[in-house]
Amino acid sequence: MVSKEMLALGKKSSVIREIFEYAKVRRTQIGAENVFDFSLGNPSIPAPAVVGETMQKLIADTDPVLLHGYTSAPGDMGVRQTIAGHVSERFGIEVNPALIYMTCGAAASLTISLRAICCPEDEVILLAPFFPEYQVFVRNAGAVPVIVPGRMGTFDIDFGALAEAINEKTRAVIVNSPNNPSGVVLDEICIRRLADVLTEKSAQYGRPIAIIADEPYRELVYGGVDVPYIPCYYDHTLVCYSYSKSLSLPGERIGYILVSPRMEGAGDVYAAICGAGRSLGFVCAPSLLQLTVGACDGTAPDLSAYDANRTLLYSSLTEMGYEAVRPDGAFYLFVRALESDAAAFCERAKKYELLLVPSDDFGVPGYVRIAYCVSNDQIRRSLPAFRALYEEYNKG
Ligand code: PLP
Repeated sequence: MVSKEMLALGKKSSVIREIFEYAKVRRTQIGAENVFDFSLGNPSIPAPAVVGETMQKLIADTDPVLLHGYTSAPGDMGVRQTIAGHVSERFGIEVNPALIYMTCGAAASLTISLRAICCPEDEVILLAPFFPEYQVFVRNAGAVPVIVPGRMGTFDIDFGALAEAINEKTRAVIVNSPNNPSGVVLDEICIRRLADVLTEKSAQYGRPIAIIADEPYRELVYGGVDVPYIPCYYDHTLVCYSYSKSLSLPGERIGYILVSPRMEGAGDVYAAICGAGRSLGFVCAPSLLQLTVGACDGTAPDLSAYDANRTLLYSSLTEMGYEAVRPDGAFYLFVRALESDAAAFCERAKKYELLLVPSDDFGVPGYVRIAYCVSNDQIRRSLPAFRALYEEYNKG
């Protein structure tokens, strides 16, 4: 009656979602102010005012039949032209609007891209730590996820491990910088080296290995850190962009796929993306949202609240004795668990009402992810609990 694979997926929600649901129950039991929920990457800053103003103006001024009607399947051409113009200007690479496909966020962008480029049994490399849903998306495309651990502690790319993992079946590498869950931003040296390795391996195996650049956190960086734009370094790149985090619009489901114009056979890759979008039912992304992001693309988010949270949490926890990766981007802190079993550590943390996510599903053992897209007040009030937890592990 049902697909066993889908039944299993549906019955087992992600660990992050499980903790998030647990937090909801706990809030009703002991009061919201006593629960320190650091589980979900739901932006805590509101969308910039211009987003709401634009929506209101669009609703007031546009013929509703047009506004709420289907756009063309890959998205409104005017919106794609605006995005292409901004990307071209910002990164100095001539982007083609005819190679942009509007989607319902990064999740849809990834699902479509993988389905478009993978054949059964192809392998897709996931650089750990990685967003857990990648494994689901890769399998959905009929491909096989291959996990390549990053360098422990710094969580950038282990190039030795990467080179060993690549073979004649490798179709793509997913790169997520700034990274969920580590907050690490890969610098230009790293991206150049990655491009060199993939160029060499593509030549060795006689077929191009794609980079799928998953970029929902591109705009969330601190201290002026640069996030290299991968199409400028590697031709065979697909960018999966989303406005979920940059404009605080995760519930609105809007983003796009950009096929690098420098890619050999870009037209066919784009046609395959249109085919995958069609086959998965991801056509005509929400019209009102397309027009809204078309008008608001390029609006810089005010990151001061996340930055204050980042500084407070990182400095407080490391002062207490925790080991953490200093995040340059996104809104996550990756902290070493105080025992080797991260899930057991998270269970102990629950005693203090600290709800953290164990790292195992991110492809790394022994760490926890703390999503600091919460109020500064929550972080402040949680610090005694973090201290008590640390002391429980370090008694005498
Ligand atoms: N990729 C990463 C790394 C994420 O962290 C998320 C969401 O948290 C997504 C993709 C999915 O983003 P979207 O809400 O745009 O589908």
